[in-house]
Amino acid sequence: MGFLTFFSVSQGSIRSKMLKLARQCLHLSQKNFAKSFHTSNIRSALVFTQEHDELRKTVQKIIEKDINPFVDEWEEANIYPAREVFKKLGNAGLLGITRPTEYGGLGLDYSFTVAFIEELTKINCHGVPMSIAVHTDMATPALAKFGSEELRQEFLVPSIAGDRVSCVGISEVQAGSDVAGIATKAVRQGDDLIINGGKMWITNGAQADWMCLLANTREGPPHKNKSLICVPLDLPGISFQTNKKLGTCSSDNVQFFFDNVRVPAKNIIGEEGMGFVYQMIQFQEERMAGVIGVAPGCTRIIQETIEYCKERKAFGQPIIDNQVIHYTFAELQTEVEALKSLVYRAAAAMIDGEDVTLLASMAKLKGGRLVREVSDKCLQFWGGMGYTPEVNISRQWRDMRLLSIAGGSDEIMCAIICKYMGILPKLKSK
Ligand SMILES: Cc1cc2nc3c(=O)[nH]c(=O)nc-3n(C[C@H](O)[C@H](O)[C@H](O)COP(=O)(O)OP(=O)(O)OC[C@H]3O[C@@H](n4cnc5c(N)ncnc54)[C@H](O)[C@@H]3O)c2cc1C
Repeated sequence: MGFLTFFSVSQGSIRSKMLKLARQCLHLSQKNFAKSFHTSNIRSALVFTQEHDELRKTVQKIIEKDINPFVDEWEEANIYPAREVFKKLGNAGLLGITRPTEYGGLGLDYSFTVAFIEELTKINCHGVPMSIAVHTDMATPALAKFGSEELRQEFLVPSIAGDRVSCVGISEVQAGSDVAGIATKAVRQGDDLIINGGKMWITNGAQADWMCLLANTREGPPHKNKSLICVPLDLPGISFQTNKKLGTCSSDNVQFFFDNVRVPAKNIIGEEGMGFVYQMIQFQEERMAGVIGVAPGCTRIIQETIEYCKERKAFGQPIIDNQVIHYTFAELQTEVEALKSLVYRAAAAMIDGEDVTLLASMAKLKGGRLVREVSDKCLQFWGGMGYTPEVNISRQWRDMRLLSIAGGSDEIMCAIICKYMGILPKLKSK
């Protein structure tokens, strides 16, 4: 066989192998795609009614009267009076929007939470809305879903009323992204649990009355040995120190130490050993609460920057008249609307009782990245003014950087999405 004949025969057989592989890939991708993305039957929109408008107006009034006039002072002090603000929100029913009425909630569907969080972006910083969301959507969802009647009465009812401040304790010094790797232990002794360990980065920690704490309550596989526990924070053996932060200054943040802290074992939320699973469910409300405010928050930043660019002149014309500037606003607002559609789709799925893990992770990833892009590009158009603490844009730029880190970082969101897409490699055993 001559070289050319050999070449064309061997090329032909490689080609047919590759074609076979391509056909297999097509078949498998269609099969896997159908398996991973069961979202086509989900409603893609939320319907807002007059009742939502009423709720929005109530939130706006509280923000205008009881929050915004004091934000600069609170930012300076690195803390805000959560107890006072929560009481105002609690009196208006806003701390238990989706919670059952028998616990003091409003018993409404999740679209009202969307309206609530969207309005919170009218607050002139991100520290206060974050603190409120920790209380309503990060520390209390598992208690509301899985807690015993006794625990709900003791911790949920006063939290919804605004009489108690809550926090959520998952992260530790040596384990943030790797939730399964936490080391805090709660060891059974008679009818009690003895807690030893610590928690890091705890929002509301300096003011909170109780913590929804994740701890190891037995030996065994890390996804089956944990429990969520309601821990009152005035017990002997609990101490904390303040963490300094780059942004979200008005919200306090602390590191906790637990030294032989005794709590009743009945303070375990739901079933002992199910804490990791409950927390993964609780994270979905946390991630949604984190991202819902991004689209309205970005729109606010864009609008404020547009106004500045109309006023500010360079080379004899308003700087907005430069195509590079007004086109940038068009591109950013388009991205914001795309994010909003994704967020509303996830919220609609939540109302329909679907598993929102995939959509919530995608929304949080996209939201974290987009708010960085919007705040950075807008800050640029403020020139030197953008680099001063006097303008909202610089506070937003600092504060919103957090979204890509906390509550599951961008990389962890990617890992979850990969898992759903069937392309996350299995962890190699150590
Ligand atoms: C202001 C603030 C408020 C917070 N509030 C709370 C709170 O109230 N309660 C609470 O429990 N926690 C809270 N946190 C903690 C927050 O959730 C964690 O910081 C976050 O989960 C990341 O964990 P880490 O800081 O330990 O980073 P690490 O886990 O050490 O990660 C460091 C980097 O490595 C990346 N990384 C890790 N694993 C992988 C991987 N497999 N592949 C690729 N990249 C990876 C991460 O994405 C990140 O970029 C808060 C944090 C901050 C900063």
